[in-house]
Parts: sequence; C-alpha cells; structure tokens
Amino acid sequence: MKKYDVLIVGASTTGCWFAEKMAAQGFEVLVIEKQLPEKVSREYDIFHMSENEMNQFGLPVPDESSSLREFSFCGSPMGSPYGNHKKKAGTAKIIGLHKHDYIMFMAENAKAKGAEIIYGAQFTDLLFDEKGGVAGIKYITEDGEKEAYAKIVADCSGIPSVARRKLPDASVVENFALEPVDILYVILYYFELQDKSINSRDIDCFYMQYKSWCAPAGKDYDGLFGIGGCFSYKYAEEVYNTQFMKNITFPEHTVKKVEKGMTPYHRSVYSFVEDGFIVMGDAAFLTKPTCGEGCTSSLVQGEIAVDVISKLLNNGEKLTRKNMWSINKRYMDAQGKDFDSMRPLLMGLIKMNFDEAEYLFANDVIFSDKILGGMDDGLNLSTADVLDIVKGILSGVVKKKIRPSSVAALLKGLKQSDAVAKLYENYPESISGYYDWKEKADALWSEIGTLASTCDPVIMNKLGISE
Ligand SMILES: Cc1cc2nc3c(=O)[nH]c(=O)nc-3n(C[C@H](O)[C@H](O)[C@H](O)COP(=O)(O)OP(=O)(O)OC[C@H]3O[C@@H](n4cnc5c(N)ncnc54)[C@H](O)[C@@H]3O)c2cc1C
Repeated sequence: MKKYDVLIVGASTTGCWFAEKMAAQGFEVLVIEKQLPEKVSREYDIFHMSENEMNQFGLPVPDESSSLREFSFCGSPMGSPYGNHKKKAGTAKIIGLHKHDYIMFMAENAKAKGAEIIYGAQFTDLLFDEKGGVAGIKYITEDGEKEAYAKIVADCSGIPSVARRKLPDASVVENFALEPVDILYVILYYFELQDKSINSRDIDCFYMQYKSWCAPAGKDYDGLFGIGGCFSYKYAEEVYNTQFMKNITFPEHTVKKVEKGMTPYHRSVYSFVEDGFIVMGDAAFLTKPTCGEGCTSSLVQGEIAVDVISKLLNNGEKLTRKNMWSINKRYMDAQGKDFDSMRPLLMGLIKMNFDEAEYLFANDVIFSDKILGGMDDGLNLSTADVLDIVKGILSGVVKKKIRPSSVAALLKGLKQSDAVAKLYENYPESISGYYDWKEKADALWSEIGTLASTCDPVIMNKLGISE
C-alpha cells in the first residue's frame, strides 16, 4: 500500500499552493478535489490579491497580456454611510484575476513540481491508526470508494471543512460546523453605467457600514458592487435595496450579472494540528476581518506549516501534534493575534448608527486619511492616535452627535480587543497549557459574540431571523 507524505483535501487556492510548496521539495503529494476540473471554483469570477502579497507568497503575478489577469488598480477609498465623505484607505497595487483560471494555473504548477491531483474525488471520511492518529482518508470517485494513506492529511476544503469535521470530539482541533451567523453571504452585482461620461473608477469605494464595496470588474463591465451579510443572501440583498441604495447616490446602472459566494467570518480555530492532521485556509477560518478575503491571509499559516512540516519530514520525525505545535504558536504571533483581536473592535464600530458614523467621518475621528491610509499593513494605532480618537468621540457625545450607548459599545469592543490580544500573546508553547488557555478563550469569545450581533433588527424582523 502506497503511503504519501502529504494528502490534501481540496484543490483551490490553499490546497494547490500547499501542494506546490511541498512537492517542490521532493515530497510525495496527493490532492483530491470533489469537482471536475472545469467546475473548480466557479461560484464567482473575479478575485483580487495585492501584488505585494502575491510576491510574498511566491504566487506568480501574470503580466498584463495574460488571460488570467483582468486588471490592476491601486486601493479604493472608504466611504461614509451617506456618501458625503471619502477617506484614503490603502495604496497597495491590487491585481484582479479570473479565479477559476488562476486556480487551474496553480494546479498545473503543483503538478509540474510532482504533485498528483485527482479531480471528481470526494472525501468521505478519515482513517485512523491504532493510536488514534489520522492515517489517511476515504474518498469516492466514479469508480467507487477508495482509500489513500499519508503521513499528514491537510484539510483545505473551505467552509465545509469536511475532514476537520470528522475528527473526534476529544481532538485539540475543534470539529464544529460554521453556522449562518459566522458566515458572510456575499452577492456580486456586475453593472453597466447608463451615463457613459462617468469615469467608473471614480465610484470605486469601500463602505464598511454596509459591508459593501464597488470595484473594477474587467473589460466587460463598468464595475462590480459587492455586499456581504450574515445569515443569508436575502439579508445582504435587503441591506443593498433598503439601506445602501436609499442612502448613497449611486449613478443609474443596469445589473448585467449576479454571482454569490460564502466566506467565513469567525475567529480561527484554536489549534490547526492533530496527530497526522492539519487544517488550513477557509477550513480554519483565516480570512481578513476587515474584508473577508482569504486567499493570501491563509498563506501566512501555510508558510509556517511548510517550514515546520518539511523540516520534520526531512529529519524523519513523526508529524504529531506535539512536533507540529509550533505551527499554532507561530501563526498566533504572526497574524492570529492581530486578526482576532480586531474583530470585537470592528463590531463595536459597526454598531454605531449611520448618523454617528457620518459624524466620525466628517470630523476625521477613526475614519481619517491618516488611520485608514495606513491599513495596508494592518491597523497600527499610536498612543497619540488613541487619544485623538477618545477626544473626538467625547466631543461627539457633548454635541449629542454620538449616543453614550455607542460609546459604551465601542469601549467594550476596545477592551475585548485588548483582552484577545493579551490572551493570544500568551498562546501556549506546548499542548500542556492548551486546555486552560482554551477555557479562557471560550469564555472571552462567548462574551464577544458574533458579527451577526451587529445586524439590523428591522431587517432581521422582516426576514423572520432570530439570532
Ligand atoms: C464573493 C466572494 C469574493 C471573494 N473575493 C476575494 C478576493 O478578492 N480576494 C481574496 O483573497 N479572497 C476573496 N474571497 C475569499 C476567498 O474566496 C477564500 O478565502 C478562498 O477561496 C479560500 O480558499 P480555500 O482554498 O481555503 O477554500 P475554497 O476556495 O473554498 O476551496 C475548497 C476546495 O475544496 C473542495 N472540496 C470541498 N469539499 C470537498 C470534498 N468533500 N472532497 C474533496 N474536495 C472538496 C472544493 O470543491 C474546493 O475546490 C472571496 C469570497 C467570496 C465569497
């Protein structure tokens, strides 16, 4: 019976990237993907990555004549809820690519390095060794049920997290399923402007209060309007129709194409590794808390995993959770602490009503060129910035532009953000401290709640949604 070094479930961005990196070092890699090649990642067409991040993770940047690449642009501003103010939000060069085509290109690169990819192969279960460690998988193809064995199984299956969910309850990798409250249901409207004299790039903008954005969509459309909502696509649609289109003067346009997709909005799992197992990408909830993008942010953990796992394999050591524990610790230091501590703060901000947020934009409090313009590298606030924010908010309260309850929500968000950062800084060095740490983290996250707590009660009522 053949035993691979690495067996990957899911051949999208995370799975193909990991397969290429491991195969490039001479390891035997098998990837199984449930879709046939022509159907891989067809939910939506255009996706973006910054050129800097592509270079950082060794993702080839196609040149302008390539059919993989549709356009590039440099950051878009952030707009206020009534559209009266726009603030500079990042200056990174963003590359717009066709997702299916780029993933197939990544798959070819992985194959060129020696990885084997089987399409039309659906994971069904994990196989365990006599000590309870993961030893392989069962999967189904049109030829029937099969088994494959490996030193490590990597779950790169996205939101369904098909392999992670088959781990026993006693595993240090949590096996829960994502609920609709923890998912952003995203609708993309590709549009054509009626007034052709408008430069469509002038309306590119990110609107945090509606979880929506307007961006380029390639040569066939004037732009793309995206909006995300918890619970369901219906919720996102309601925000688009009853709030965004009412509050923002958006040029007359015709919607030419609609696409839909889901992205996780949840803290990362606490541990990625188990004996013979790792979870990566959307299956581990590694998306950016500011926008829900996940292709490159997943690779921060991916790079650490490649480093640790290849060293262990080269040294002939077993891929146990003990030996791979440093992946957890290093990820929490490199990105997890910053991403997950940002969530409660963002929730506090989004809880402000539209009038309050408009006031903050108008007065450069939080929503200022200085703070948002530096967000390319994450939200780094100096003590002077925090003092300015506090002064600006207090002045808003005195002028009765900001409700005390909103200040309380924001302060709560700040406090929880600090508590998460401190807890994650102290992520255990080894499994022995894990259970105590997890108990504290569980208590903190149950107090923080989910992004769905920022949803509009009027829309929830209308749609018959209860949290
Ligand atoms: C509308 C929308 C727009 C987005 N735009 C961007 C963007 O511009 N930039 C960005 O960085 N991110 C973006 N994201 C997020 C991005 O799509 C994800 O973070 C990213 O695709 C995660 O990649 P992944 O490989 O981890 O998982 P996925 O892309 O979900 O891939 C999982 C793979 O596993 C396969 N699979 C599932 N079940 C099984 C099974 N049982 N057996 C075998 N295979 C299985 C699936 O078929 C799939 O190919 C967007 C998300 C949405 C919804």
